[in-house]
Amino acid sequence: MPSQSEIIDFFNRQLQTWPEAAARFEALSGVLTKQFDINGFHVTVSHNPARIQSSAAKVDKASIASRRCFLCDANRPPQQQHIDWRDYRILVNPYPILPLHFTIVASQHRPQSISGAIADMTDLALMLPDFAIFYNGPACGASAPDHFHFQAVRKSDLPMFCHQQLPFGVIRLAGDKATQQDVDAALALLPKSDSETEPKVNIFCTTDSGNPEIILIPRRRHRPDFYGEDGMLISPASIDLAGVIVAPRLTDFKRIDAATINEIYSQLCLSQAEINSLKNEIK
Ligand SMILES: [Zn+2]
Repeated sequence: MPSQSEIIDFFNRQLQTWPEAAARFEALSGVLTKQFDINGFHVTVSHNPARIQSSAAKVDKASIASRRCFLCDANRPPQQQHIDWRDYRILVNPYPILPLHFTIVASQHRPQSISGAIADMTDLALMLPDFAIFYNGPACGASAPDHFHFQAVRKSDLPMFCHQQLPFGVIRLAGDKATQQDVDAALALLPKSDSETEPKVNIFCTTDSGNPEIILIPRRRHRPDFYGEDGMLISPASIDLAGVIVAPRLTDFKRIDAATINEIYSQLCLSQAEINSLKNEIK
């Protein structure tokens, strides 16, 4: 099992041999940002033009079927190195949002689904104690919903992990409750359409002194109603909910304000009261 310092060494070696990826990491320090205080939750909006492919990604079945999967071994850039871990490849994300950004992809092409993957998620979080491991559901920001993957960024780069009041509801499962069984029980409470394989959810996993904590962020929809070429190309995934909203187009970056951010959270997420009442229905 690689250690956190070995994985960070790998990151540094990868950037030395892949100038395009290194340039995108370097560009992060110069991206325009705006800060908002959303009822005590400190949100950063980041104007990151390199993320346009992800924010504008067409993730309907036909579009996914007609493109080559960019996470499969055969299709990844030749410069991209990896660390093998279990049935995964640990990769440097070549389109980063934050200064240390990894993608952990299944070695086989299989759909994005959290079923059976929680133990891997908690073990990754134990392996990377300074990081948050996260999962974007297939209709919750994953730009490759057909190829299973996690991502990892430093906890300290996400407002959600800086002990702040969250503007949306979550389900927390800590310690011996951070298991697949408990995640499955929580997911079973959430609404799901017949066409979906799992409820819409973003999931984070971190550890504190070796104790894992899983945070489920249930969602009601994929993208806000103002999403689109004529509206805003802002497609929120885990990082956006955790307090770093990516605006790849300058027009959107200029227009976004506290009201827009409140709309994003209220349209996409459930309130804590709604989540608590779902929990009470089962008791
Ligand atoms: Zn694939």
